[in-house]
Order: sequence, then structure tokens, then C-alpha cells
Amino acid sequence: MRRAGFVIAIAAAAVLCASRPAVSAPVKQLSMQDLCLRLKAEIKEFGWNINPCDGIKWTEASTSVNGYPLVYAEFGDPKSSNTTLVLSMVHGDEITPLYIGFELIKWLEHNIASLKGARVVVAPLINPDSLFARPRTRVNARGVDCNRNFSTRDWHAKALKLWKTRFRSDKRRFPGNAPDSEPETIFQKGLIEKFQPQKILSIHAPLNFTDYDGPNNLALARFPREYVRECLKLRRHLRAISGGFFTGSLGNYAGQERGIPTITLELPTADPRKARVYWAKFRTGIRTMFEFKVPNYALLMKGNVRKGS
Ligand SMILES: [Zn+2]
Repeated sequence: MRRAGFVIAIAAAAVLCASRPAVSAPVKQLSMQDLCLRLKAEIKEFGWNINPCDGIKWTEASTSVNGYPLVYAEFGDPKSSNTTLVLSMVHGDEITPLYIGFELIKWLEHNIASLKGARVVVAPLINPDSLFARPRTRVNARGVDCNRNFSTRDWHAKALKLWKTRFRSDKRRFPGNAPDSEPETIFQKGLIEKFQPQKILSIHAPLNFTDYDGPNNLALARFPREYVRECLKLRRHLRAISGGFFTGSLGNYAGQERGIPTITLELPTADPRKARVYWAKFRTGIRTMFEFKVPNYALLMKGNVRKGS
């Protein structure tokens, strides 16, 4: 009898366990002050002489896997039809884009009025957890490359397959087990949805080129000729090249599929000592991009349906 009771007890416990999801400790939600202090300590070694939080009016959109606020700052007229969204440091082991993001914010605070009615939204630190990791990583706290996690149309068919074959299961490029699985990806998509930018600037390092994803001559069936022509003018102005795109990348999601010209600035190195030089070198081009008016042609984010211009 004792044995039977014991078996019943084990069976009951098993049913109980099966019906309950595994419990993991809840992630502590950190404050803006936590982020600022951590960031300040983090950049100290770089000798940049910037205060990453003082005087900046941040909006907290959501939180990272480890609980840090995911933030952005807005500049210019909210009614402007010329909005550029800047997304920086999606990969935390690329240091120089962080400096450009913060210098850009400082510069916009004083110069937005001179930018011909342009509006700019800057998210300088898309992936704080990867910057704060030891060693710093490309992937987020769950090991996902947030620039391969966007829900592009080919994601289910290709993302994991390509990762296993072409990228030989490189942990630095893991696209996740499902598209849009990561808060840092959803954060970027939310900014696109909220601000409906006419252009996107994404800042990375260290590949040393400027890439364009967006409407081109091969996409005339999907986009009006005059719209494509203006987008290609922007590409020419910035001397960007079209170097291909990846399943699940921002360029694929926003540029190829949504038709929002998306410029990826790959800084020449990730060396923090060179950050000042890069800011001096690229700020004129960045300003040109902000001022350049792509026709007011809005793509509805849902279902990629065209709206009138
Ligand atoms: Zn990168």
C-alpha cells in the first residue's frame, strides 16, 4: 500500500510539473538612472569626454532582455514630412557607432533648426546588454543577432537554414528561433511604425562602406518610377553602394520590403580612439542625409500597402 501511495504521489507530482511552465527568476526592470550610470562607467575607458545622459530628453520605449531601458530622443517638428530615424549600436562589440550616436544627439540639440524642417529621431544604443556583456558581444543577452531577427518574408524559409549552412552555425549570427523574438528587434520595428520615417540611417562598424537598401530599378513593379528615382538620388548623394542584404536584417525588412531608403554606415573601425575622427569625417554626409527630401510617399507599415503621396 505504501508503495502504491508513493507511486500515486510521484504521478501527481509529474502531472503538476508538466502543467506548470518552468519558472525563471523575473528580470529586474532597471531605471534610466541605472542605464546612465552603467553607461558612464562603461565609456570611461574610452576617454570620450561625453556625458551620455545629462540634459537629454529621453523617451523609454521598452526594456532589453536584461531589463535596461531601450530609449530614443526626438528632434524637430513632429509634423515634418522629412523624418530620418537613426539606429545605432545594434551590435555591442562595435564601439564607434555609440560615440557617433551621442555626438549626433548633442549636435542636433543645437542645430536642428538649421536643418530645413527635417525631423530626426535617434536611438543611440539599441542593444545595451551586448555592450555591457563581458566580453562584449554582437548578439543580445539571449544569443540572438538582432540584425537577423526581423520578420522578413523569407525568414521562416531561410533564416535558420542559411545560418546552419552559409554561416556554419556561427553563434555571432544566430537569427533566433523565431522572427521578432527579441525586445531589441521589436523596439526598432516599433520606432519605424511610430515615426513612419522617410529614411533610416543605421550605424555599424568596422566594414568601411556605406550601403543602400531600398527601392531600385529592379523594384519598379512595386514602387512608382519617380519615387525610385528620388531614392536613388539619395544613394548617389551619399555615395552608397547596394551590396546585397540578409534574411532578417533591417535593410531587408525596412529597405527592400517596406521601401524606406535605409542607409547602413559601416565605420572604418570599431576602435574607440578613432571615434572623434569618424564623427568629423561623416557628420557632413549625415547632415546631407537628414536634409535630403525623399518625396512624401508613405508606406503603410501593415501589409506594405501603399498610401497616396
Ligand atoms: Zn554591426
